[in-house]
Amino acid sequence: MSFDYDLFVIGGGSGGVRAARVAAGETGAEVALAEEDRYGGTCVIRGCVPKKLMVFASEYADMVQDAQAYGWDVKPGAFDWDVFRGKLYAELDRLEGIYRNILKNNGVETFDQRARLVDAHTIELADGTRKTTKHVLIATGGRPVVPQFPGSELAITSNEIFHLDKLPGRILIVGGGYIASEFAGIMNGMGVQTTQFYRGAQILRGFDEEARGLICEEMRQNGIDVRLGTNVLEMTKDGDQIRVKATDGTEDRFDTVMFATGRTPNADDLGLDTIGVERGRKGEIIVDEYSQTAVPSIFAIGDVTDRVNLTPVAIREGMAFVETVFNGNPTPVDHDLIPTAIFTQPEFGTVGLSEEEAAAQEPVEVYATSFKPMQKAFAGGTQRVLMKLIVSQATRKVLGCHIVAPGAGEMIQLAGIAVKMGATKEDFDRTVAVHPVMAEELVTMRQPVRTA
Ligand code: NDP
Repeated sequence: MSFDYDLFVIGGGSGGVRAARVAAGETGAEVALAEEDRYGGTCVIRGCVPKKLMVFASEYADMVQDAQAYGWDVKPGAFDWDVFRGKLYAELDRLEGIYRNILKNNGVETFDQRARLVDAHTIELADGTRKTTKHVLIATGGRPVVPQFPGSELAITSNEIFHLDKLPGRILIVGGGYIASEFAGIMNGMGVQTTQFYRGAQILRGFDEEARGLICEEMRQNGIDVRLGTNVLEMTKDGDQIRVKATDGTEDRFDTVMFATGRTPNADDLGLDTIGVERGRKGEIIVDEYSQTAVPSIFAIGDVTDRVNLTPVAIREGMAFVETVFNGNPTPVDHDLIPTAIFTQPEFGTVGLSEEEAAAQEPVEVYATSFKPMQKAFAGGTQRVLMKLIVSQATRKVLGCHIVAPGAGEMIQLAGIAVKMGATKEDFDRTVAVHPVMAEELVTMRQPVRTA
């Protein structure tokens, strides 16, 4: 049977675009891709990229003061959201153009509309056109979810935070995950009076406890009103503001309330249920280690499969899919020991097991040091950083590395190589320190602070 295409990709985000480009450009496959929104997906348009630019923008507040302390004659001024937002939009337009060009230059046919599956080999576009394809790759990502409660429709999510007409005077951010904690720092740095509610005992659940504790403490030092064990009960409109009743009995008014309470896979209305693609409890598409669904011609990658919801992971899954299906080389994706950075202020870089996870698994030694970094201390800052290694007593392997410090994301990329290679504590120690930098502590910690 002949098909219109060898591969039809649904979704033009990081994972889908990479798979389409590599399949078409490097294996000569006939490839099409449908995207109903902007090319680049969550990461480029409403996630990692604009978020990181906002982190950069927000960090200048402190830098001016530090510069003064170092002898510079500079004066702090106000942050101009309009100026920044204009440049941000232009940058996102530029990046979207690059994504479109990548597809075009590799011969991928694109359809700027929604697509759904009619059967295992047939796609129907929103305008009613039908296309046949040998393989389908679903890379439709995810979207933020807001729990339902009285007034929940007044909340915005991370999708809208990049499009504010003006910066709020006061913002409430709800949630304790990556997105909530990152935006609390961003808004605070931009001069917005920021409150964060988290329903649990400590933000960033699942990560190393000592690191979470330090991040929360520093966020508070920076002026964020982090309220733990607190959730929203009800919200009502009050003039231009939103009145928020909280579970701790308080009632307060905010200009903006952003919920960052998790994301859900975009797998509805794709026609999946009628053709036998299985979905999990959260609605995610269930796939095997080769990203293949229960229907052999249909594969899925990225956040829609809710495995590890990170851009570089979706890209890897896309590459492994092409290798498996178009190069005849079955390639599972290795989801173990993925280094990651959380762009809180202070930044957090982490790879491997937390102290708690490692100790539950086997006897470990914990090496940790927390200190005031030179650059900030000289300027009179009281901020502290954390360098921490979790070491297996039996094998001496470094099971986890956790860094809370400016630039921790950059550091963990490199430490991640060593940990992924199975480096032991003694391998770290054999490496000569780079002096004077914060990360030298990773190779100079002699005595464990405790065993667990
Ligand atoms: P997360 O799942 O990380 O966090 C959701 C947060 O909301 C948790 O603190 C959770 O609390 C809380 N929550 C959930 N439901 C409710 C509720 N009904 N009421 C109050 N609070 C609630 O989601 P995010 O939205 O922060 O991020 C989604 C994913 O995006 C991340 O897991 C990550 O994979 C990815 N991401 C990665 C980034 C990076 O690499 N730097 C940046 C941003 C996102 P509890 O802990 O109690 O469940």
